[in-house]
Amino acid sequence: MSKTVLLLPGDGIGQEIIAEARKVLNWLNTQGAELTLEEGLIGGTAYDETGTPLPDETVTKAEAADAVLLGAVGGTKWETLDYSVRPERGLLGIRKALDLYCNLRPAKVHPQLADASTLKAEVVSGIDIMVVRELSSGIYFGEPKGVETLEDGTKRGYNTLTYKTGEIERIARSAFEAARKRGNKVCSVDKANVLETTELWREVVTNLHAAEYADVELSHQYVDNTAMQLIRDPKQFDVIVTTNMFGDILSDEASMLTGSIGMLPSASLGDGNALYEPIHGSAPDIAGKGVANPLATILSVAMMLKHSLDMPEMSDRIEQAVSDVLDVGLRTADIMEPGMTQVGTSVMGDAVMAALIGGPAFKAAAAPAVVPLAKPVKMKKKKMKKMKKKGKN
Ligand code: NAD
Repeated sequence: MSKTVLLLPGDGIGQEIIAEARKVLNWLNTQGAELTLEEGLIGGTAYDETGTPLPDETVTKAEAADAVLLGAVGGTKWETLDYSVRPERGLLGIRKALDLYCNLRPAKVHPQLADASTLKAEVVSGIDIMVVRELSSGIYFGEPKGVETLEDGTKRGYNTLTYKTGEIERIARSAFEAARKRGNKVCSVDKANVLETTELWREVVTNLHAAEYADVELSHQYVDNTAMQLIRDPKQFDVIVTTNMFGDILSDEASMLTGSIGMLPSASLGDGNALYEPIHGSAPDIAGKGVANPLATILSVAMMLKHSLDMPEMSDRIEQAVSDVLDVGLRTADIMEPGMTQVGTSVMGDAVMAALIGGPAFKAAAAPAVVPLAKPVKMKKKKMKKMKKKGKN
């Protein structure tokens, strides 16, 4: 049955990386996937064309689609705009419009890139963590919030942390279901020793576990401990489920264990709606240069196939193709290491295609022969050093 995928390239490198994902989506159609690809506007590009970062037409198309694939939004060009029309508002707006309450952020270390992490390779190699972050409630949305001026002229800022039973139950359910398809372990992270709301969180997770998911191993941790454990012994984790704010922070920490922002996909799911995107932003510093890593976006397509399009075998094939491309030594600048072949965005996309089409034969041949377009992008040593210093490897 035909499925619709809405592509929202957005800003900066968004255009370049979505072009590579499109190659993979088109290939899926040659394999019988029957995907209808549509395109829409979001972010600064949408603002330039329509005066808003999230046109109604985009929301309508997203609601009708089976899945949305987003590149990235934002850029220096729009930094002086009023907050209400900044590109990032487009992203928050679409998450809200689609009621995407469950954010899945895998942090997986590709063995070929274990040395790219700032931690020792033996600590990170083999980690495969799924952070399940509640995305539509908690302190980012709770009322009342604001900043008030007190009688003495000083100010008081306040936000409210709220969770209802149903909101906790649905995200906990997502985590238990995810765990059943992986290592069958969930660690629920809260601050139940201090915050009443997260005492309720712990109670609801515990009750749901006893009632419906007793086969899954459940543990609880306080968030400060988890922040430490992720650095000390990340391999202890399978699925981590937590609140909006704790998940925001811990998922960034977990993703950085892997060493490369250009490799990590994500999914935001609601009841029936879904949006997939790389975790990185629009990278204005490298936009238009053809050097961005498209693999996080291509891996977001793999997540889409698994979670929204019911094509888990194709998802596995894409993940395998990415692994094969790394195996033969192809690297974009952000993951470049001595002895590897540096390529640009579109050559990396072509290489994934060659691996998809070639299957096991791809690895048997020398990479440049399989990828005739592989002209290494020359980057000056100074620039590479600068990128590494900025934490981009
Ligand atoms: P960023 O993720 O865009 O870039 C951080 C660093 O990582 C940059 O040096 C960039 O060159 C590098 N990088 C990012 N993706 C890369 C890739 N695929 N390949 C190679 N290198 C890559 O974060 P930032 O610089 O803090 O933000 C830039 C803009 O992106 C801002 O406007 C911000 O608001 C926006 N942003 C958007 C999203 C999103 O759309 N989901 C997320 C984060 C930031």
